[in-house]
Amino acid sequence: MIDERHVMVRTEGNGVESLFECSVEGCGRRLTFDHIGGRMTVLDRGYESALHEGSSGLASVSGAVRTGLRGIL
Ligand SMILES: [Zn+2]
Repeated sequence: MIDERHVMVRTEGNGVESLFECSVEGCGRRLTFDHIGGRMTVLDRGYESALHEGSSGLASVSGAVRTGLRGIL
């Protein structure tokens, strides 16, 4: 069940890997996205009931990890 939508912003990146952080204060979801392998690693889960979306156009973030689908965090 989705309670709310959070926007994740790309705060760091070197073309190989990007760091995304949730823009909602108090949530704290953070993840890295590996552009080469197309994988993401969740560092901090934050509010798991929220739908997390990327603001860079790169990523739509949801609670489900769908491997092999580029851009889904
Ligand atoms: Zn969040």
